[in-house]
Amino acid sequence: MAKHSTPISSRDGALKSPWQAGINPAHHTEKHAPGKVYDVVIIGAGITGLTAALLLQKAGKECLVVEAETPGFGTTGGTSAHINTFADTTYAEAQSAFGREGAKLFADAVNEGFALIKENINTYKIACDFEFKKGYVYAEDPEQVKQLDELCKGMLDVGLDCNYNEDIPVPVPHQAAVVMEKQAQFQPLKYLQGLEKAYLQAGGALLTHTRIESVKIENKIHLAKAGEQTFKAVKVIYATHVPPGITIFSFRCAPYRSYVLGVKLKDDNYPDALIYDLQEPYHYFRTHTIDNQKYLIVGGNDHKTGHDDPEKQFADLEKYVRKYYKVAEVGYKWSSQYYIPVDGFPYIGHIDGIYCATGFNGNGMMLGSISAKILADLILGKKSKYEKVFSPGRIKPVDGFSEFIKENADVAYHFVADRFGIHKSDSLKRLQPGTGKVVEIDGEKIAAYKDETGEIHALNPVCTHAGCIINWNGQEKSWDCPCHGARFDIDGKVLTGPATKDLLKINADEN
Ligand SMILES: Cc1cc2nc3c(=O)[nH]c(=O)nc-3n(C[C@H](O)[C@H](O)[C@H](O)COP(=O)(O)OP(=O)(O)OC[C@H]3O[C@@H](n4cnc5c(N)ncnc54)[C@H](O)[C@@H]3O)c2cc1C
Repeated sequence: MAKHSTPISSRDGALKSPWQAGINPAHHTEKHAPGKVYDVVIIGAGITGLTAALLLQKAGKECLVVEAETPGFGTTGGTSAHINTFADTTYAEAQSAFGREGAKLFADAVNEGFALIKENINTYKIACDFEFKKGYVYAEDPEQVKQLDELCKGMLDVGLDCNYNEDIPVPVPHQAAVVMEKQAQFQPLKYLQGLEKAYLQAGGALLTHTRIESVKIENKIHLAKAGEQTFKAVKVIYATHVPPGITIFSFRCAPYRSYVLGVKLKDDNYPDALIYDLQEPYHYFRTHTIDNQKYLIVGGNDHKTGHDDPEKQFADLEKYVRKYYKVAEVGYKWSSQYYIPVDGFPYIGHIDGIYCATGFNGNGMMLGSISAKILADLILGKKSKYEKVFSPGRIKPVDGFSEFIKENADVAYHFVADRFGIHKSDSLKRLQPGTGKVVEIDGEKIAAYKDETGEIHALNPVCTHAGCIINWNGQEKSWDCPCHGARFDIDGKVLTGPATKDLLKINADEN
Protein backbone atom coordinates (compact mmCIF):
# COMPACT_ATOMS: atom_id res chain seq x y z
CA MET A 1 0.00 0.00 0.00
CA ALA A 2 1.12 3.57 -0.65
CA LYS A 3 3.07 5.29 2.15
CA HIS A 4 2.19 8.89 2.98
CA SER A 5 4.70 11.47 4.08
CA THR A 6 2.26 14.31 3.38
CA PRO A 7 -0.64 15.21 5.71
CA ILE A 8 -3.66 12.98 5.32
CA SER A 9 -7.31 13.69 6.10
CA SER A 10 -9.45 11.11 7.87
CA ARG A 11 -12.17 8.93 6.34
CA ASP A 12 -14.88 6.64 7.65
CA GLY A 13 -12.74 3.52 7.19
CA ALA A 14 -9.29 2.19 8.01
CA LEU A 15 -8.18 1.92 4.37
CA LYS A 16 -6.84 5.07 2.73
CA SER A 17 -8.21 6.40 -0.52
CA PRO A 18 -5.67 8.14 -2.78
CA TRP A 19 -7.56 11.42 -2.39
CA GLN A 20 -6.71 11.80 1.31
CA ALA A 21 -2.98 12.48 0.94
CA GLY A 22 -2.04 16.16 0.87
CA ILE A 23 -5.37 17.21 2.40
CA ASN A 24 -4.35 18.83 5.64
CA PRO A 25 -6.98 18.25 8.34
CA ALA A 26 -5.51 21.02 10.48
CA HIS A 27 -6.58 23.51 7.83
CA HIS A 28 -10.20 23.69 9.00
CA THR A 29 -11.24 26.95 10.57
CA GLU A 30 -13.45 26.56 13.63
CA LYS A 31 -15.52 29.68 13.29
CA HIS A 32 -18.88 29.77 14.98
CA ALA A 33 -20.82 32.22 17.14
CA PRO A 34 -22.59 30.39 20.03
CA GLY A 35 -26.24 31.39 20.56
CA LYS A 36 -26.53 33.05 17.16
CA VAL A 37 -29.53 32.22 14.95
CA TYR A 38 -28.07 31.37 11.56
CA ASP A 39 -30.07 31.61 8.36
CA VAL A 40 -29.08 28.06 7.50
CA VAL A 41 -27.32 25.26 9.38
CA ILE A 42 -25.94 22.66 6.97
CA ILE A 43 -25.20 19.28 8.53
CA GLY A 44 -22.43 17.37 6.76
CA ALA A 45 -19.40 18.65 4.83
CA GLY A 46 -19.22 16.40 1.80
CA ILE A 47 -19.74 17.62 -1.76
CA THR A 48 -23.47 18.18 -1.15
CA GLY A 49 -23.13 20.16 2.09
CA LEU A 50 -20.20 22.34 1.05
CA THR A 51 -21.66 23.12 -2.39
CA ALA A 52 -24.95 24.15 -0.75
CA ALA A 53 -23.14 26.19 1.90
CA LEU A 54 -21.10 28.06 -0.70
CA LEU A 55 -24.16 28.82 -2.87
CA LEU A 56 -26.18 30.06 0.11
CA GLN A 57 -23.38 32.07 1.71
CA LYS A 58 -22.64 33.72 -1.64
CA ALA A 59 -26.36 34.52 -1.98
CA GLY A 60 -26.22 36.49 1.28
CA LYS A 61 -27.36 33.87 3.80
CA GLU A 62 -25.41 33.41 7.01
CA CYS A 63 -24.51 29.74 7.17
CA LEU A 64 -23.00 27.32 9.63
CA VAL A 65 -21.71 23.95 8.42
CA VAL A 66 -21.54 21.32 11.17
CA GLU A 67 -19.48 18.23 10.34
CA ALA A 68 -19.26 15.12 12.55
CA GLU A 69 -15.54 14.68 11.73
CA THR A 70 -13.73 16.67 9.05
CA PRO A 71 -14.81 17.69 5.52
CA GLY A 72 -14.65 14.72 3.15
CA PHE A 73 -14.86 12.15 5.96
CA GLY A 74 -17.87 10.48 4.31
CA THR A 75 -18.33 9.09 0.82
CA THR A 76 -16.80 12.14 -0.88
CA GLY A 77 -13.44 11.00 0.54
CA GLY A 78 -14.00 7.46 -0.76
CA THR A 79 -15.59 8.10 -4.14
CA SER A 80 -14.01 7.19 -7.47
CA ALA A 81 -14.75 10.69 -8.83
CA HIS A 82 -16.13 10.16 -12.31
CA ILE A 83 -18.18 13.05 -13.64
CA ASN A 84 -20.69 11.81 -16.20
CA THR A 85 -23.57 12.92 -18.37
CA PHE A 86 -25.33 9.60 -17.69
CA ALA A 87 -26.25 7.84 -14.46
CA ASP A 88 -26.75 4.43 -12.83
CA THR A 89 -30.49 4.85 -13.32
CA THR A 90 -30.39 4.90 -17.11
CA TYR A 91 -32.51 7.43 -18.97
CA ALA A 92 -34.43 4.49 -20.46
CA GLU A 93 -35.24 3.26 -16.92
CA ALA A 94 -36.07 6.82 -15.88
CA GLN A 95 -38.46 7.12 -18.80
CA SER A 96 -40.28 3.91 -17.99
CA ALA A 97 -40.66 4.88 -14.30
CA PHE A 98 -41.22 8.66 -14.58
CA GLY A 99 -42.22 9.23 -18.21
CA ARG A 100 -40.40 11.17 -20.89
CA GLU A 101 -40.60 14.44 -19.00
CA GLY A 102 -39.21 12.83 -15.83
CA ALA A 103 -36.32 11.33 -17.78
CA LYS A 104 -35.58 14.68 -19.39
CA LEU A 105 -35.57 16.41 -15.99
CA PHE A 106 -33.26 13.73 -14.61
CA ALA A 107 -30.87 14.25 -17.53
CA ASP A 108 -31.00 18.01 -16.98
CA ALA A 109 -30.21 17.52 -13.29
CA VAL A 110 -27.22 15.25 -13.97
CA ASN A 111 -25.87 17.63 -16.57
CA GLU A 112 -26.46 20.78 -14.51
CA GLY A 113 -24.65 19.09 -11.62
CA PHE A 114 -21.73 18.40 -13.95
CA ALA A 115 -21.78 22.02 -15.19
CA LEU A 116 -21.88 23.38 -11.63
CA ILE A 117 -18.71 21.47 -10.72
CA LYS A 118 -16.95 22.91 -13.77
CA GLU A 119 -18.25 26.40 -12.99
CA ASN A 120 -16.99 26.21 -9.38
CA ILE A 121 -13.58 25.01 -10.57
CA ASN A 122 -13.37 27.99 -12.93
CA THR A 123 -14.81 30.61 -10.58
CA TYR A 124 -12.78 29.64 -7.52
CA LYS A 125 -9.73 28.47 -9.46
CA ILE A 126 -9.72 25.06 -7.80
CA ALA A 127 -6.72 22.94 -8.81
CA CYS A 128 -8.23 19.46 -8.60
CA ASP A 129 -6.88 17.47 -11.56
CA PHE A 130 -10.09 18.09 -13.55
CA GLU A 131 -9.83 16.57 -17.03
CA PHE A 132 -12.37 15.88 -19.75
CA LYS A 133 -12.25 12.27 -20.98
CA LYS A 134 -14.23 10.11 -23.34
CA GLY A 135 -16.57 7.64 -21.67
CA TYR A 136 -17.17 4.11 -22.97
CA VAL A 137 -19.77 1.52 -22.02
CA TYR A 138 -19.42 -1.98 -23.46
CA ALA A 139 -21.47 -5.16 -23.70
CA GLU A 140 -20.02 -8.67 -23.35
CA ASP A 141 -22.98 -10.84 -24.38
CA PRO A 142 -26.21 -10.54 -26.41
CA GLU A 143 -28.31 -9.66 -23.35
CA GLN A 144 -25.93 -6.81 -22.52
CA VAL A 145 -25.99 -5.68 -26.17
CA LYS A 146 -29.76 -5.17 -25.74
CA GLN A 147 -29.15 -3.21 -22.53
CA LEU A 148 -26.55 -1.10 -24.29
CA ASP A 149 -29.00 -0.34 -27.11
CA GLU A 150 -31.56 0.79 -24.54
CA LEU A 151 -28.99 2.86 -22.66
CA CYS A 152 -27.94 4.60 -25.85
CA LYS A 153 -31.52 5.13 -27.07
CA GLY A 154 -32.41 6.57 -23.66
CA MET A 155 -29.54 9.05 -23.94
CA LEU A 156 -30.53 10.10 -27.48
CA ASP A 157 -34.17 10.47 -26.35
CA VAL A 158 -33.20 13.05 -23.73
CA GLY A 159 -31.02 14.90 -26.21
CA LEU A 160 -27.59 13.59 -25.20
CA ASP A 161 -24.87 12.21 -27.47
CA CYS A 162 -24.16 8.50 -27.63
CA ASN A 163 -22.37 6.82 -30.54
CA TYR A 164 -21.53 3.21 -31.27
CA ASN A 165 -17.82 2.49 -31.37
CA GLU A 166 -16.04 -0.74 -32.25
CA ASP A 167 -13.00 -0.36 -30.02
CA ILE A 168 -12.72 0.27 -26.33
CA PRO A 169 -9.55 1.33 -24.49
CA VAL A 170 -9.50 -1.72 -22.16
CA PRO A 171 -8.30 -5.21 -23.16
CA VAL A 172 -11.65 -6.90 -22.47
CA PRO A 173 -13.40 -8.96 -25.19
CA HIS A 174 -16.71 -7.31 -26.03
CA GLN A 175 -19.56 -7.52 -28.52
CA ALA A 176 -20.59 -3.85 -28.72
CA ALA A 177 -19.68 -0.51 -27.22
CA VAL A 178 -20.78 3.10 -27.15
CA VAL A 179 -18.76 6.23 -26.60
CA MET A 180 -19.81 9.51 -24.98
CA GLU A 181 -17.72 12.64 -25.49
CA LYS A 182 -16.83 15.09 -22.72
CA GLN A 183 -17.14 13.04 -19.58
CA ALA A 184 -14.69 14.06 -16.83
CA GLN A 185 -12.72 13.08 -13.75
CA PHE A 186 -11.14 15.00 -10.85
CA GLN A 187 -9.57 14.71 -7.39
CA PRO A 188 -12.64 15.01 -5.15
CA LEU A 189 -10.98 16.11 -1.92
CA LYS A 190 -8.94 18.82 -3.64
CA TYR A 191 -12.22 20.04 -5.13
CA LEU A 192 -13.88 19.90 -1.71
CA GLN A 193 -11.02 21.83 -0.16
CA GLY A 194 -11.50 24.48 -2.85
CA LEU A 195 -15.21 24.75 -2.02
CA GLU A 196 -14.42 24.99 1.68
CA LYS A 197 -11.86 27.74 1.14
CA ALA A 198 -14.28 29.76 -1.02
CA TYR A 199 -17.04 29.28 1.56
CA LEU A 200 -14.85 30.44 4.46
CA GLN A 201 -13.62 33.41 2.42
CA ALA A 202 -17.26 34.36 1.81
CA GLY A 203 -17.70 34.54 5.61
CA GLY A 204 -19.22 31.11 6.23
CA ALA A 205 -18.81 29.33 9.57
CA LEU A 206 -17.65 25.72 9.87
CA LEU A 207 -17.59 23.49 12.90
CA THR A 208 -15.88 20.12 12.70
CA HIS A 209 -15.89 17.08 15.06
CA THR A 210 -19.50 17.79 16.03
CA ARG A 211 -22.17 15.18 15.35
CA ILE A 212 -25.75 16.46 15.26
CA GLU A 213 -27.99 14.04 17.11
CA SER A 214 -31.39 15.62 16.55
CA VAL A 215 -33.15 18.65 15.17
CA LYS A 216 -36.39 20.04 16.55
CA ILE A 217 -38.40 23.14 15.78
CA GLU A 218 -39.43 25.62 18.48
CA ASN A 219 -41.11 28.92 17.65
CA LYS A 220 -40.16 28.49 13.99
CA ILE A 221 -36.48 28.20 14.89
CA HIS A 222 -34.63 24.93 14.29
CA LEU A 223 -32.56 23.66 17.20
CA ALA A 224 -29.84 21.25 16.12
CA LYS A 225 -28.44 19.37 19.09
CA ALA A 226 -24.98 17.86 19.49
CA GLY A 227 -24.42 16.70 23.05
CA GLU A 228 -24.68 19.79 25.23
CA GLN A 229 -24.45 22.17 22.29
CA THR A 230 -27.44 23.62 20.43
CA PHE A 231 -27.20 25.39 17.08
CA LYS A 232 -30.04 27.64 16.02
CA ALA A 233 -31.16 28.29 12.48
CA VAL A 234 -34.13 29.39 10.42
CA LYS A 235 -33.54 26.47 8.01
CA VAL A 236 -31.63 23.22 8.28
CA ILE A 237 -30.17 21.04 5.53
CA TYR A 238 -29.22 17.43 6.18
CA ALA A 239 -26.38 16.74 3.71
CA THR A 240 -25.58 13.45 5.44
CA HIS A 241 -27.05 10.98 2.95
CA VAL A 242 -30.09 9.71 4.84
CA PRO A 243 -30.88 11.98 7.79
CA PRO A 244 -30.01 10.54 11.22
CA GLY A 245 -32.57 8.53 13.14
CA ILE A 246 -35.38 6.40 11.83
CA THR A 247 -37.11 8.21 9.02
CA ILE A 248 -38.94 7.10 5.94
CA PHE A 249 -35.57 7.20 4.16
CA SER A 250 -34.49 4.23 6.27
CA PHE A 251 -36.94 2.26 4.16
CA ARG A 252 -36.56 4.05 0.84
CA CYS A 253 -32.78 4.05 0.43
CA ALA A 254 -30.62 0.93 0.63
CA PRO A 255 -26.96 1.33 1.71
CA TYR A 256 -24.36 -0.33 -0.53
CA ARG A 257 -20.62 -0.87 -0.10
CA SER A 258 -18.50 -0.43 -3.20
CA TYR A 259 -14.83 -1.41 -3.72
CA VAL A 260 -12.00 0.35 -5.51
CA LEU A 261 -8.37 -0.51 -6.31
CA GLY A 262 -5.59 1.86 -7.42
CA VAL A 263 -3.22 -0.35 -9.39
CA LYS A 264 0.30 0.25 -10.74
CA LEU A 265 0.91 -1.59 -14.02
CA LYS A 266 4.08 -3.28 -15.27
CA ASP A 267 3.54 -1.66 -18.70
CA ASP A 268 2.01 1.67 -19.69
CA ASN A 269 -1.34 0.22 -20.70
CA TYR A 270 -3.32 2.81 -18.69
CA PRO A 271 -6.58 3.77 -20.45
CA ASP A 272 -7.06 7.45 -21.22
CA ALA A 273 -10.84 7.34 -20.73
CA LEU A 274 -13.61 6.34 -18.33
CA ILE A 275 -14.81 2.81 -19.14
CA TYR A 276 -17.73 0.81 -17.74
CA ASP A 277 -19.01 -2.71 -18.34
CA LEU A 278 -22.63 -3.83 -17.97
CA GLN A 279 -22.14 -6.63 -15.49
CA GLU A 280 -24.29 -6.71 -12.37
CA PRO A 281 -22.73 -5.11 -10.31
CA TYR A 282 -20.72 -3.30 -12.96
CA HIS A 283 -16.95 -2.66 -13.11
CA TYR A 284 -15.27 0.54 -14.20
CA PHE A 285 -11.75 1.58 -15.18
CA ARG A 286 -10.00 4.92 -15.37
CA THR A 287 -6.53 6.36 -14.81
CA HIS A 288 -5.42 8.93 -12.23
CA THR A 289 -1.91 10.31 -11.71
CA ILE A 290 -1.01 10.71 -8.04
CA ASP A 291 2.41 12.11 -7.09
CA ASN A 292 3.68 11.57 -10.65
CA GLN A 293 2.65 7.90 -10.58
CA LYS A 294 -0.15 6.65 -12.82
CA TYR A 295 -2.74 4.38 -11.22
CA LEU A 296 -5.37 2.30 -12.92
CA ILE A 297 -8.51 2.91 -10.87
CA VAL A 298 -10.76 -0.15 -11.00
CA GLY A 299 -14.00 -0.45 -9.09
CA GLY A 300 -17.03 -2.63 -8.57
CA ASN A 301 -18.20 -5.66 -6.53
CA ASP A 302 -20.91 -3.61 -4.82
CA HIS A 303 -23.20 -5.26 -2.29
CA LYS A 304 -25.66 -4.27 0.39
CA THR A 305 -23.80 -3.08 3.49
CA GLY A 306 -23.13 -5.78 6.07
CA HIS A 307 -24.33 -8.54 3.73
CA ASP A 308 -21.11 -9.88 2.23
CA ASP A 309 -17.47 -10.48 2.99
CA PRO A 310 -15.41 -7.36 2.13
CA GLU A 311 -12.16 -9.37 1.98
CA LYS A 312 -13.65 -11.60 -0.71
CA GLN A 313 -14.87 -8.54 -2.68
CA PHE A 314 -11.37 -7.06 -2.76
CA ALA A 315 -9.88 -10.43 -3.70
CA ASP A 316 -12.41 -10.88 -6.55
CA LEU A 317 -11.83 -7.35 -7.81
CA GLU A 318 -8.07 -7.89 -7.81
CA LYS A 319 -8.51 -11.21 -9.64
CA TYR A 320 -10.67 -9.42 -12.18
CA VAL A 321 -8.10 -6.72 -12.91
CA ARG A 322 -5.23 -9.24 -13.04
CA LYS A 323 -7.14 -11.15 -15.72
CA TYR A 324 -6.79 -8.21 -18.11
CA TYR A 325 -3.78 -6.23 -16.93
CA LYS A 326 -0.15 -6.85 -15.95
CA VAL A 327 -0.36 -5.68 -12.36
CA ALA A 328 2.89 -4.52 -10.75
CA GLU A 329 1.36 -3.54 -7.42
CA VAL A 330 -1.96 -2.70 -5.80
CA GLY A 331 -1.08 0.75 -4.47
CA TYR A 332 -4.48 1.57 -2.98
CA LYS A 333 -7.56 -0.34 -2.00
CA TRP A 334 -10.55 1.19 -0.30
CA SER A 335 -14.30 0.92 -0.03
CA SER A 336 -17.09 3.36 0.65
CA GLN A 337 -20.85 3.62 0.90
CA TYR A 338 -23.60 4.93 -1.34
CA TYR A 339 -27.39 4.76 -1.22
CA ILE A 340 -29.74 3.32 -3.85
CA PRO A 341 -33.17 4.96 -3.96
CA VAL A 342 -36.08 2.57 -4.22
CA ASP A 343 -37.51 4.13 -7.40
CA GLY A 344 -34.24 5.16 -9.07
CA PHE A 345 -34.46 8.94 -8.53
CA PRO A 346 -32.75 10.90 -5.76
CA TYR A 347 -34.77 12.45 -2.94
CA ILE A 348 -34.08 16.17 -2.85
CA GLY A 349 -36.16 18.77 -1.08
CA HIS A 350 -38.18 19.52 1.97
CA ILE A 351 -39.76 17.02 4.32
CA ASP A 352 -40.99 17.40 7.92
CA GLY A 353 -39.52 20.90 8.16
CA ILE A 354 -36.02 19.83 7.06
CA TYR A 355 -34.21 20.03 3.72
CA CYS A 356 -32.39 16.89 2.65
CA ALA A 357 -30.74 15.23 -0.32
CA THR A 358 -30.05 11.53 -0.64
CA GLY A 359 -30.36 8.45 -2.87
CA PHE A 360 -27.61 9.48 -5.30
CA ASN A 361 -26.65 5.94 -6.27
CA GLY A 362 -23.06 6.02 -7.67
CA ASN A 363 -23.61 9.50 -9.12
CA GLY A 364 -23.26 11.83 -6.17
CA MET A 365 -20.71 14.12 -7.76
CA MET A 366 -23.34 15.42 -10.17
CA LEU A 367 -26.45 14.68 -8.07
CA GLY A 368 -24.89 16.03 -4.84
CA SER A 369 -23.96 19.22 -6.68
CA ILE A 370 -27.36 19.72 -8.29
CA SER A 371 -29.04 18.89 -4.96
CA ALA A 372 -27.12 21.76 -3.42
CA LYS A 373 -28.41 24.08 -6.12
CA ILE A 374 -32.00 22.83 -5.78
CA LEU A 375 -31.96 23.19 -1.98
CA ALA A 376 -30.33 26.61 -2.19
CA ASP A 377 -32.98 27.75 -4.69
CA LEU A 378 -35.81 26.48 -2.46
CA ILE A 379 -34.32 28.15 0.62
CA LEU A 380 -33.85 31.41 -1.30
CA GLY A 381 -37.55 31.31 -2.22
CA LYS A 382 -36.87 30.60 -5.89
CA LYS A 383 -38.72 28.08 -7.99
CA SER A 384 -36.91 24.90 -9.02
CA LYS A 385 -38.12 22.86 -11.96
CA TYR A 386 -36.86 19.78 -10.08
CA GLU A 387 -38.90 20.35 -6.94
CA LYS A 388 -41.73 17.99 -7.83
CA VAL A 389 -39.90 15.18 -9.58
CA PHE A 390 -37.30 14.69 -6.81
CA SER A 391 -39.57 15.61 -3.92
CA PRO A 392 -39.01 13.41 -0.84
CA GLY A 393 -42.78 13.90 -0.41
CA ARG A 394 -43.36 11.42 -3.22
CA ILE A 395 -42.68 8.80 -0.55
CA LYS A 396 -45.68 7.23 1.08
CA PRO A 397 -45.43 5.81 4.61
CA VAL A 398 -44.51 2.14 4.32
CA ASP A 399 -46.86 -0.53 5.63
CA GLY A 400 -45.16 -2.72 8.20
CA PHE A 401 -42.89 0.10 9.38
CA SER A 402 -43.95 -0.23 13.00
CA GLU A 403 -43.73 -4.04 12.78
CA PHE A 404 -40.14 -3.76 11.58
CA ILE A 405 -39.19 -1.53 14.48
CA LYS A 406 -40.93 -3.80 16.97
CA GLU A 407 -39.13 -6.90 15.69
CA ASN A 408 -35.77 -5.24 16.00
CA ALA A 409 -36.56 -3.59 19.28
CA ASP A 410 -37.04 -7.08 20.69
CA VAL A 411 -33.45 -7.83 19.84
CA ALA A 412 -32.36 -4.82 21.85
CA TYR A 413 -34.70 -5.70 24.69
CA HIS A 414 -33.03 -9.07 25.16
CA PHE A 415 -29.67 -7.46 25.56
CA VAL A 416 -29.60 -6.59 29.25
CA ALA A 417 -26.21 -7.37 30.70
CA ASP A 418 -23.26 -5.10 30.15
CA ARG A 419 -20.52 -7.05 31.88
CA PHE A 420 -19.41 -10.57 31.06
CA GLY A 421 -16.61 -12.92 31.91
CA ILE A 422 -15.67 -12.71 28.30
CA HIS A 423 -12.01 -13.73 28.61
CA LYS A 424 -13.25 -17.18 29.58
CA SER A 425 -14.83 -17.56 26.19
CA ASP A 426 -13.14 -20.03 23.81
CA SER A 427 -14.44 -18.16 20.80
CA LEU A 428 -12.63 -15.04 21.98
CA LYS A 429 -9.43 -16.98 22.67
CA ARG A 430 -9.58 -18.21 19.07
CA LEU A 431 -10.10 -14.71 17.65
CA GLN A 432 -7.00 -13.61 15.71
CA PRO A 433 -5.40 -10.24 16.62
CA GLY A 434 -6.67 -7.50 14.31
CA THR A 435 -10.01 -9.22 13.72
CA GLY A 436 -13.54 -8.91 15.06
CA LYS A 437 -16.56 -11.15 15.37
CA VAL A 438 -20.01 -11.23 16.92
CA VAL A 439 -19.79 -14.07 19.46
CA GLU A 440 -22.30 -15.49 21.89
CA ILE A 441 -21.30 -15.70 25.53
CA ASP A 442 -23.65 -16.88 28.28
CA GLY A 443 -26.49 -16.63 25.76
CA GLU A 444 -25.74 -12.98 24.97
CA LYS A 445 -24.28 -11.61 21.77
CA ILE A 446 -21.11 -9.50 21.94
CA ALA A 447 -19.28 -7.65 19.17
CA ALA A 448 -15.64 -8.36 20.03
CA TYR A 449 -12.52 -6.99 18.36
CA LYS A 450 -9.08 -8.27 19.40
CA ASP A 451 -6.42 -5.65 18.77
CA GLU A 452 -2.78 -6.36 17.87
CA THR A 453 -1.79 -6.39 21.55
CA GLY A 454 -4.46 -9.03 22.30
CA GLU A 455 -6.76 -6.62 24.10
CA ILE A 456 -10.48 -7.22 23.51
CA HIS A 457 -12.70 -4.25 22.56
CA ALA A 458 -16.17 -5.54 23.40
CA LEU A 459 -19.41 -3.85 22.37
CA ASN A 460 -23.11 -4.35 22.50
CA PRO A 461 -23.74 -5.53 18.89
CA VAL A 462 -27.21 -3.99 18.72
CA CYS A 463 -27.13 -1.07 16.30
CA THR A 464 -28.24 2.11 18.07
CA HIS A 465 -30.27 3.11 15.03
CA ALA A 466 -32.98 0.45 14.65
CA GLY A 467 -31.74 -2.42 16.78
CA CYS A 468 -30.27 -4.76 14.15
CA ILE A 469 -27.17 -6.85 14.90
CA ILE A 470 -23.98 -5.43 13.35
CA ASN A 471 -21.42 -7.38 11.28
CA TRP A 472 -17.62 -7.13 11.25
CA ASN A 473 -15.97 -5.46 8.24
CA GLY A 474 -12.38 -6.72 8.45
CA GLN A 475 -11.15 -4.49 5.63
CA GLU A 476 -12.29 -1.09 6.90
CA LYS A 477 -12.02 -2.30 10.53
CA SER A 478 -15.59 -1.28 11.25
CA TRP A 479 -18.85 -2.73 12.50
CA ASP A 480 -21.46 -2.40 9.74
CA CYS A 481 -25.20 -2.65 10.20
CA PRO A 482 -26.91 -4.80 7.56
CA CYS A 483 -30.25 -3.00 7.96
CA HIS A 484 -29.66 0.69 7.19
CA GLY A 485 -25.89 0.93 6.78
CA ALA A 486 -24.90 2.61 10.07
CA ARG A 487 -21.20 1.95 10.78
CA PHE A 488 -19.09 2.11 13.97
CA ASP A 489 -15.36 1.94 14.75
CA ILE A 490 -13.74 -0.71 16.98
CA ASP A 491 -14.64 1.30 20.09
CA GLY A 492 -18.24 1.74 19.01
CA LYS A 493 -17.97 5.36 17.81
CA VAL A 494 -20.39 6.24 14.99
CA LEU A 495 -18.60 6.42 11.62
CA THR A 496 -21.63 6.57 9.35
CA GLY A 497 -25.25 7.46 10.07
CA PRO A 498 -28.18 7.11 10.29
CA ALA A 499 -27.14 6.12 13.85
CA THR A 500 -26.23 9.08 16.03
CA LYS A 501 -25.41 7.21 19.25
CA ASP A 502 -22.26 5.16 19.76
CA LEU A 503 -22.49 1.43 20.53
CA LEU A 504 -22.48 0.59 24.21
CA LYS A 505 -19.07 -0.57 25.44
CA ILE A 506 -18.79 -3.74 27.51
CA ASN A 507 -16.19 -3.96 30.21
CA ALA A 508 -13.87 -6.72 29.03
CA ASP A 509 -11.75 -6.92 32.17
CA GLU A 510 -14.28 -8.91 34.17
CA ASN A 511 -13.20 -12.50 34.77
C1 LIG B 1 -16.84 3.57 -4.04
C2 LIG B 1 -17.74 4.67 -4.55
C3 LIG B 1 -17.47 5.25 -5.77
C4 LIG B 1 -18.26 6.29 -6.22
N1 LIG B 1 -17.95 6.86 -7.43
C5 LIG B 1 -18.67 7.89 -7.88
C6 LIG B 1 -18.34 8.50 -9.11
O1 LIG B 1 -17.39 8.10 -9.77
N2 LIG B 1 -19.07 9.55 -9.52
C7 LIG B 1 -20.14 10.01 -8.81
O2 LIG B 1 -20.80 10.95 -9.25
N3 LIG B 1 -20.47 9.47 -7.60
C8 LIG B 1 -19.77 8.41 -7.15
N4 LIG B 1 -20.10 7.84 -5.95
C9 LIG B 1 -21.15 8.45 -5.13
C10 LIG B 1 -20.65 9.74 -4.48
O3 LIG B 1 -19.32 9.57 -4.05
C11 LIG B 1 -21.52 10.11 -3.26
O4 LIG B 1 -22.88 10.09 -3.64
C12 LIG B 1 -21.18 11.50 -2.75
O5 LIG B 1 -19.82 11.58 -2.39
C13 LIG B 1 -22.07 11.85 -1.56
O6 LIG B 1 -21.69 13.11 -1.09
P1 LIG B 1 -22.44 13.75 0.16
O7 LIG B 1 -21.82 15.06 0.39
O8 LIG B 1 -23.89 13.71 -0.09
O9 LIG B 1 -22.15 12.73 1.34
P2 LIG B 1 -20.79 12.50 2.15
O10 LIG B 1 -19.60 12.78 1.35
O11 LIG B 1 -20.88 11.14 2.75
O12 LIG B 1 -20.84 13.59 3.26
C14 LIG B 1 -21.71 13.50 4.36
C15 LIG B 1 -21.00 14.11 5.54
O13 LIG B 1 -21.92 14.24 6.61
C16 LIG B 1 -21.25 13.96 7.81
N5 LIG B 1 -22.28 13.57 8.78
C17 LIG B 1 -23.05 12.46 8.75
N6 LIG B 1 -23.92 12.46 9.79
C18 LIG B 1 -23.69 13.60 10.48
C19 LIG B 1 -24.27 14.19 11.64
N7 LIG B 1 -25.26 13.59 12.29
N8 LIG B 1 -23.77 15.38 12.09
C20 LIG B 1 -22.76 16.01 11.43
N9 LIG B 1 -22.20 15.50 10.31
C21 LIG B 1 -22.65 14.32 9.84
C22 LIG B 1 -20.29 12.84 7.47
O14 LIG B 1 -19.22 12.75 8.39
C23 LIG B 1 -19.85 13.23 6.06
O15 LIG B 1 -18.65 13.97 6.05
C24 LIG B 1 -19.35 6.77 -5.48
C25 LIG B 1 -19.65 6.17 -4.25
C26 LIG B 1 -18.86 5.11 -3.79
C27 LIG B 1 -19.19 4.48 -2.48
